[in-house]
Amino acid sequence: MIPMTLAEIAEITGGRLVNATSSVTVTGTVEYDSRKIGPGGLFVAFAGEKVDGHDFAGTAIAAGAAGILGSRDTGVPGVLVDDPLAALAALARVVVSRLDKLTVVGLTGSSGKTTTKDYIGQLLARLGPTVAPAGSLNNELGFPYTVLQATTDTRFLVLEMGARGIGHIRYLTEIARPRIGVVLNVGAAHIGEFGSVEGTALAKGELVEALPSSGVAILNADDPLVSAMASRTSAQVVPVGEAASAVVRAVDVTVDSAGRAGYTIVFDGESGKVQLSVAGRHQVGNTLAAAAVAMAAGMDLDELAAALGEVGIVSGRRMDVFDRPDGVTVIDDSYNANPSSTAAALRALAAMGEGRRTTAVLGYMAELGEHEISGHAEVGRLAAELGVDRLIVVAGNARPILDGAAGLTGWPGTAYFATDQAAAIEILQQDLRADDVVLVKGSRYRTWDVADWLRRSEE
Ligand code: ATP
Ligand code: MG
Repeated sequence: MIPMTLAEIAEITGGRLVNATSSVTVTGTVEYDSRKIGPGGLFVAFAGEKVDGHDFAGTAIAAGAAGILGSRDTGVPGVLVDDPLAALAALARVVVSRLDKLTVVGLTGSSGKTTTKDYIGQLLARLGPTVAPAGSLNNELGFPYTVLQATTDTRFLVLEMGARGIGHIRYLTEIARPRIGVVLNVGAAHIGEFGSVEGTALAKGELVEALPSSGVAILNADDPLVSAMASRTSAQVVPVGEAASAVVRAVDVTVDSAGRAGYTIVFDGESGKVQLSVAGRHQVGNTLAAAAVAMAAGMDLDELAAALGEVGIVSGRRMDVFDRPDGVTVIDDSYNANPSSTAAALRALAAMGEGRRTTAVLGYMAELGEHEISGHAEVGRLAAELGVDRLIVVAGNARPILDGAAGLTGWPGTAYFATDQAAAIEILQQDLRADDVVLVKGSRYRTWDVADWLRRSEE
């Protein structure tokens, strides 16, 4: 954060300075995890249901915190407010307004936000000091927290924006208004909350509505619901994708036996060859969006084409491909799952499985609402269509995947049902071969043990 006195923080947040003189200054980072606090930091205490951050106020001060921002006086220096989350937002808003060298980049979409944020962060870091922390910090807590990592040196601030309802993204844009906005796709993620993909599009489009007319809206030209957002912004629109209408376009897309895509990037009559090092055909769209951001920030096409080949995903469990010493190739894509991201991962498995035995370990996909049964069935059917050799479905709530696969007559693969992750591990353990490619995917923790077992048991 930029240096600020506790008194100033009290003023900005409408809070009260306690146990400190007005000159005490925050010079370090803002943290809500006391283990991350360093000298001069500001510790934000939330009174959660399970853990009360105020209990760690003393620890934070001992670790060097200049003060705490909380809702209860714990006897340590700090600022007391009614709502620490609102205070964090207020603080973030002021910090952004004081950083005049800063370009704010915001991105949203149903799948690939964190992945693409990682790419954008690595590209922009070539142009200047960039804040784009690893992980999925896209909500009313993670967003201002990320904003507060900006300092006077920061030139680019890359912000992931999630939406679980109408108004959520607008709220985030009021904390930090992006000048460059990216909408990746509108899929079935969190469809349970929105009711329909159109509802999702309505919410995600709030990002482009917030862009200034001097801004840039980077929109996926291959996704009709995203392209249609062009009418909701006064910013310059840059369509990206494989469609002929794309201004930053990928042509001649190839996918190699390691599942990695290559393409020719075309922009303004110029072109460059790109060979990605991250697996998955879906990285074409993600990297194109990142490329458009880098170009809007001033990177030239030659440098960009080479740089795209070097970007990776620093946030874990997303298309993390590794070869075990026994020859088995694992695709750990277990961070999260929805029907579109699972389809993308299954396609990567199929591409990597040429001449090899393929296994998909699939768990429950959360937040599908009324589409829960059909969403799972759809994924099972696709696995069968793609000719996955073994399908291991983990836990009862994911069972409709099996029904979907069974619905495709003539699928020669084998389906297994595992009551839990331990059972899935047992199935794998009984029959693992050097020519196996194994995909692991599910919502959040639902298949993490399986991925971890595959990682551990290679040693
Ligand atoms: P969250 O809503 O959990 O924050 P996210 O939008 O940040 O998700 P990532 O964490 O980057 O997305 O990726 C989630 C899953 O979606 C991963 O399995 C990833 O491989 C997959 N994915 C990434 N990009 C795409 C894409 N363009 N289309 C479909 N799936 C994708
Ligand atoms: Mg994310």
